Amino acid sequence: MSDKQYDLVVIGGGPGGYVAAIRAAQLGMATACVEGRGALGGTCLNIGCIPSKALLQSSEKYADATKHFAEHGIKVDGLSLDLPAMMGRKDKVVKNLTGGIEFLFKKNKIDYIKGWGSIPAAGSVKVALADGGEQVLQTKTILIATGSESTPLPGVETDEKQIVTSTGALALDKVPEHLVVIGAGVIGLEMGSVWSRLGAKVTVVEFLDRILPGMDGEIAKQTQRVLTKQGLKFKLGTKVTAAKNAKAGVTLTLEPAKGGEAEEMKAAVVLVAIGRRPFTDGLGLQELGVAMDNRGVIQVDKHFQTSVPGIYAIGDCVPGPMLAHKAEEDGVVAVECLAGQSSHIDYNMVPGVVYTWPEVASVGKTEEQLKEEGVDYRVGKFPFTANSRAQAVGDTDGVVKILADKRTDKVLGVHILGPLAGDILAEAVTVMEFGGSAEDIARTCHSHPGMGEAVKEAALAVDGRALHI
Ligand SMILES: Cc1cc2nc3c(=O)[nH]c(=O)nc-3n(C[C@H](O)[C@H](O)[C@H](O)COP(=O)(O)OP(=O)(O)OC[C@H]3O[C@@H](n4cnc5c(N)ncnc54)[C@H](O)[C@@H]3O)c2cc1C
Repeated sequence: MSDKQYDLVVIGGGPGGYVAAIRAAQLGMATACVEGRGALGGTCLNIGCIPSKALLQSSEKYADATKHFAEHGIKVDGLSLDLPAMMGRKDKVVKNLTGGIEFLFKKNKIDYIKGWGSIPAAGSVKVALADGGEQVLQTKTILIATGSESTPLPGVETDEKQIVTSTGALALDKVPEHLVVIGAGVIGLEMGSVWSRLGAKVTVVEFLDRILPGMDGEIAKQTQRVLTKQGLKFKLGTKVTAAKNAKAGVTLTLEPAKGGEAEEMKAAVVLVAIGRRPFTDGLGLQELGVAMDNRGVIQVDKHFQTSVPGIYAIGDCVPGPMLAHKAEEDGVVAVECLAGQSSHIDYNMVPGVVYTWPEVASVGKTEEQLKEEGVDYRVGKFPFTANSRAQAVGDTDGVVKILADKRTDKVLGVHILGPLAGDILAEAVTVMEFGGSAEDIARTCHSHPGMGEAVKEAALAVDGRALHI
């Protein structure tokens, strides 16, 4: 047992946990962070956001060189793919960033305890240390930030070689001839894009009759059209019921979601990307009586306290969108509330981005949600084909769609399919955080020529007065 008495012990060093630890240290708390994977940064930095974006960028450059340079009058001879170098670059990016967090911990005097933590009782955390032995940390407060893992699909057992989760899909040692992606969500479309650009035939199989469930339906439909143009194939309304994994490849059994005749599909590699579920194994939550729902999601109050006093939880293992920036905000809010500050997060204002090309970015209500809630709204849309920067760059696929309250003009939702949509969306998130209107965006001067001008034009279109269409 260590003599040190901590104010806060965070279990899990992902974006939720490490940001919470830094904020706690800034607020003067004696803080430790327990992490078992051997590196800080969690899913996001090690096997999620960052390696996937590194490969998306590299594969996009490759696709540009193979397919689009000629449009710009650039000829390339003898182009070839060096996959080990591409993977090496990705690993280097990950190493730099995870190392950067260790530096931030030292700077903020946070104790980084390497090992797997469990909670024998409120006020103490037991760590099975990575280099052997055990340490018990005494603390006023415990923050669970243990994140999530891929949801398994019954009948399709992963081996991370031929049947992979996103972790395996980020580290394939060759381009598969045929990649079947199960699940047309964010991760499936991003990883499908990577391998399609590198030369794989990619088929995305989805249970629902649409892609990107939860996102605005019209934008999702357009995204499917654009990705189909890029070569991805979609098999919607279809469920995978079994997988035979042999040396020569995988044979999947597919059935129509609504019932009907089964068929087989062969793949060199299958990616299971049907979603993620909270990871809380080994913490001892059931013994402690921490309330969870039937999916293992830890239940918390608005200050992120669980049903057990002194034990808090944030990030992917609590309700809300499973996103790194949401986990970070959760962490900051939880710690600031602990310090007596009034801090809060509104999950309706959490942006979501799919880093395909073009990107898909979304905040607030979708049109379907507004209809369901019976809200009267107006829609303003502006296509990137009419945006001069998009024309100059050669990226004209996509549209900006703004939904505003019919009576007050308050912006209720913004959905963008387009170049750099994720970055352009930031303006809309800020406007929405301030309770701003479409007119506020329409009256804001946007630099020219810029992709952001499409947001201004969509805002003008809410009132039927777009200028360039
Ligand atoms: C392929 C992929 C791409 C993604 N892309 C994006 C993206 O572009 N943008 C985005 O916002 N989100 C993205 N995400 C989601 C994002 O990674 C998660 O939402 C985010 O990492 C959640 O943060 P967290 O801190 O809650 O948990 P995690 O990042 O999962 O971190 C939890 C950490 O806790 C550790 N841990 C667990 N149990 C214990 C224990 N008992 N003791 C010690 N340590 C423990 C784990 O080892 C892990 O490191 C992506 C995810 C994947 C898989």
